[in-house]
Amino acid sequence: MKKKLIAANWKMNGSLQANEALTRGLIAGLGAPTCEVALCVPAVYLAQMQDLLSDGTMSLGAQDISEHEAGAYTGEISTTMLREFGVRYVIVGHSERRQYHAESDALVARKVQRALAGGITPIVCVGETLAQREAGQTVEVVKRQLAAVIHANGHCISEIVVAYEPVWAIGTGKTASAEQAQQVHAVLRLQLQAATAHAERVPIVYGGSMNAANAAELLAQADIDGGLVGGASLKVQDFLSIVSCAAQ
Ligand code: PEP
Repeated sequence: MKKKLIAANWKMNGSLQANEALTRGLIAGLGAPTCEVALCVPAVYLAQMQDLLSDGTMSLGAQDISEHEAGAYTGEISTTMLREFGVRYVIVGHSERRQYHAESDALVARKVQRALAGGITPIVCVGETLAQREAGQTVEVVKRQLAAVIHANGHCISEIVVAYEPVWAIGTGKTASAEQAQQVHAVLRLQLQAATAHAERVPIVYGGSMNAANAAELLAQADIDGGLVGGASLKVQDFLSIVSCAAQ
């Protein structure tokens, strides 16, 4: 059985002091985790976090990447820069970036290409809004979002992580039921299988108000290979509880 992945998305939270306390608390509580644990942190804290994570217990992740390699792109950060700080994962196409920064499926696909070319594993987020779910468009939406990434990346698609994050469940306290999440994960798995012979290698993680109380049931589903955790990743005990569910 492949190891599950639990990735924290700190979003725009943290401070030098808070990051240190949180990370030291996690390291003390984790011991030697039997799942992969990653912390995706704001870019300004990558140097601090590279240092704090130097024992290798957890991997370092970023929250976005430029589609360009270098040049006149004020404010953007390249794969090469992220690599210098030991970044192993990058979140791409989070719904907050799709919504607030108008990131299109095509742009997300190009960012995935850039991450893969630079040796960083993209955690590619897909998910439907509440209106889309209520209109019965969930499958169509997530398949369209993933298809753009598959189309642009060909056989390299086996090197990505997919995160199913229903937009209506992010930061709202409303979680998809284990059954709802599993149904979408199974659809995504089939889509990956049609694209690569190595689809089983691709972790499909769930994100959307995952917490200490619901993680075990979600993570027990056949096609849920881990979690992308926002709010609950900022609290030592909550995040440790989620990790322990994935480590079973
Ligand atoms: C996220 O931002 O990716 C996320 C899943 O957030 P939350 O866990 O707070 O819903």
